[in-house]
Amino acid sequence: MSSPTSTATDEGTVLSAVDVSKHFVVRNAVGDSSVVRAVEHASIDLYAGRIVAVVGESGSGKTTLARLLARFYEPTEGEIRLEDVPVGKGAAGRGYHQTVQLIFQDPFGSLNPVHRVWHNLDRALRIHDRRTGRAERRRRAIGLLERVSLTPGADFLDKFPHELSGGQRQRVVIARALAVAPKVLLGDEPISMLDVSIRLEMLNLLGRLSRDEGLAMLYITHDIASARYVCDDVVVMYAGQMIEGGPKERVIGAPAHPYTKLLVESSPDPDRVGTTSRDEQFADAETLGEPPSLIEPPTGCRFHPRCPFAMSRCALQEPPRTDLGDGHWSRCWLHEEGRADEIGAESYSAALARRTTEPAL
Ligand code: SF4
Repeated sequence: MSSPTSTATDEGTVLSAVDVSKHFVVRNAVGDSSVVRAVEHASIDLYAGRIVAVVGESGSGKTTLARLLARFYEPTEGEIRLEDVPVGKGAAGRGYHQTVQLIFQDPFGSLNPVHRVWHNLDRALRIHDRRTGRAERRRRAIGLLERVSLTPGADFLDKFPHELSGGQRQRVVIARALAVAPKVLLGDEPISMLDVSIRLEMLNLLGRLSRDEGLAMLYITHDIASARYVCDDVVVMYAGQMIEGGPKERVIGAPAHPYTKLLVESSPDPDRVGTTSRDEQFADAETLGEPPSLIEPPTGCRFHPRCPFAMSRCALQEPPRTDLGDGHWSRCWLHEEGRADEIGAESYSAALARRTTEPAL
């Protein structure tokens, strides 16, 4: 299997970001401008029938990455490739947005509240195929609802969004995305606003759509447990950069970067799928330090101010990517220094406690 951050040359690759960066210019109250480096040099491949999870704290750049892949933003550098063909500037028209569908976290805001489910689905069906008659579109709309387990579909067609639960609304949002026969679904925290009792069902639905219908899927989340449950591969982002990636068993089971180790150990219970809030998920992480500024990120390894394993070179030089086999990779100087065993030798908090008794960098 290829790494989820290899470039788009593998069979089955549907959508790729190749070395993309996104910088935003912001102005303060007196008009001075600064550059926010939201994503820097990120590469990722999405494959038919596989789910890649992108995990990180708020401000890590994962939502910006999803919007770059959806072509809601133009990359500052790098390129997006659809089926190995670069998507040129301004080329993200209707065709692209049919092939690549973005699902937002808020199902309440994603559906037009004044229209019935039928209207919301019919609009997408007509965009996909203008020649189909109303009776056939209605039959297809029922089929779409039943594909997302809203059965019998006919019972939901004439409901308004406010008559549905949050989970039912998100299923309608997914049905609408499927109406245009996409090849890629980009889910930006698609379960985080749903009641905990239905998150598992939604993850099962996403898994089934990817596996059985061959959809390539990106799953953005702050929740390590849900990433482990539903995805095939995991990429970890920190301060706008990808710092570890590979098969989920390797990345979550045996983290090869101190930040991934922090995320895994600060998860209240990695087996509690989809039941942790964002605040709970990063409660420990936040007590260990603030994420850095993306306007003036730390030099060298961006994680070095928080890292209990940091060496003097970490503040000076960006670590290279080290390939660890079986598609697993990490960006940490410990690998280049032959000290990678230290990452697994003790808990993050024990390493941090030990560090406070040692001389500072
Ligand atoms: Fe820590 Fe250095 Fe590795 Fe960065 S490169 S994660 S600071 S040990």
